[in-house]
Amino acid sequence: MLENLTDRFARVVKTMRGEARLTESNMQEMLREVRLAMLEADVALPVVRDFIAKVKEKALGEAVVGSLSPGQALVGVVHQELTALMGGDLGADASELSLAMQPPAIILMAGLQGAGKTTTTGKLAKWLSEGSHVQYGRKTGKKKVAVVSADVYRPAAIEQLKTVAAQVGVEWIPSDPSQKPEDIARAAVDYAKRHHFDVLIVDTAGRLGIDEAMMLEIKALHTLLNPIETLFVVDAMQGQDAINTAKAFGDALPLTGVVLTKVDGDSRGGAALSVRHMTGKPLKFVGVSEKLTGLEPFHPERMAQRILGMGDILSLVEQAHQNIDVAEAQRLATKIKSGDKFDLNDFKEQLQQVKKMGDMGSLLEKLPAQFAQAAGQMQSGQAEKQMRRTEGIINSMTPAERSKPEILKASRKRRIAAGAGVPVQEVNRMLNQFEQMQGMMKQMKKGGMAKMMRAMGG
Ligand code: GDP
Repeated sequence: MLENLTDRFARVVKTMRGEARLTESNMQEMLREVRLAMLEADVALPVVRDFIAKVKEKALGEAVVGSLSPGQALVGVVHQELTALMGGDLGADASELSLAMQPPAIILMAGLQGAGKTTTTGKLAKWLSEGSHVQYGRKTGKKKVAVVSADVYRPAAIEQLKTVAAQVGVEWIPSDPSQKPEDIARAAVDYAKRHHFDVLIVDTAGRLGIDEAMMLEIKALHTLLNPIETLFVVDAMQGQDAINTAKAFGDALPLTGVVLTKVDGDSRGGAALSVRHMTGKPLKFVGVSEKLTGLEPFHPERMAQRILGMGDILSLVEQAHQNIDVAEAQRLATKIKSGDKFDLNDFKEQLQQVKKMGDMGSLLEKLPAQFAQAAGQMQSGQAEKQMRRTEGIINSMTPAERSKPEILKASRKRRIAAGAGVPVQEVNRMLNQFEQMQGMMKQMKKGGMAKMMRAMGG
């Protein structure tokens, strides 16, 4: 996600940091690079102009020129302004969902057809109902969530939401193409109230383009539902068009926020950067995969950090925390520290934990540029495939073999390879890798990190 933008920005940042002296003229040169990077990312021109003017003004105001480490200071200003541009100026909580309301808190989903409304409804329902996530540093409780579709024009849309709801384990309130959208909405609210739901998410009909009838319909739904959140779902890959549609919807409906979908396929990032400035609405979530786990709350500050190639360690830690089994991770860590033998059972457990953390690609992206570049050579799809293969091999072993890999001779290896459906060389390769890892763990125990880094040639 946002690869091109991040690459370019990371390069500019590197140049900035390297500047021992900043003069007006080399600062102009660097700001020109920033401007080009933004234009290439398809950021709207007025946004770019405004951004550059602010950075320039601040940089001069804060006497970046002539300061002790002017390059660093300029990076700081760019970071601050990028954060503000993406909504950081609205305050830390602006991108948070507000659900404090007499239950049910109603969330109305709006957007064009194909934008990802139904998928996002499912993702959001999952995110809220699991409640184990940390939202902006605070733990939120599990919510009892129901979803309903008011899209009576495409019977498939209602069915699609039913499927999605079943996948994420939330209640789907039936609706039917013969009903009027407003009747569906009224009945759903009534149902959610009677059954004490905390949150009701209402999915609506989209059209191919903005059209009068659709606008009237969603306005009527809005009046009737009086939702606490009205989210506009829009496809990031549409670039500036995405912004224009968001603006048009925003004029007709009091939107409370925007969800940008398919950011995983958007290497440019123009929409992510412009949406807040152009519509005045905060970006609340980004969709980062087709999977129903692929929704991330949007944090302007962290995103600015990511774009500048500094990574987003906070989100990475949160993602890990949300998904891994902390007790198990601690058991493994203690085992490694105590120097107990780390066997293939432990290795398998460790793989399981890594898998639970989520899609490899979304993990790698949150690392700072230097790390991500090294990791980038290992394509995320590849990493997952390799992990599955390794797991298959371990699964084909007996418990005794797993705890004592040294008993693995040729005939056992052949049996394991056949069981896992891989050539014997794969089994050998995996065992070698495992031995190296064991060695590394011993080093860690003996001499700590420094020694381990030396062992790895780092
Ligand atoms: P709707 O017409 O607005 O309800 O759109 P859908 O929810 O049916 O989504 C349209 C297509 O976009 C589907 O194929 C989804 O799987 C896909 N999609 C939705 N969100 C994302 C996302 O964040 N990333 C990716 N890669 N695909 C997405």
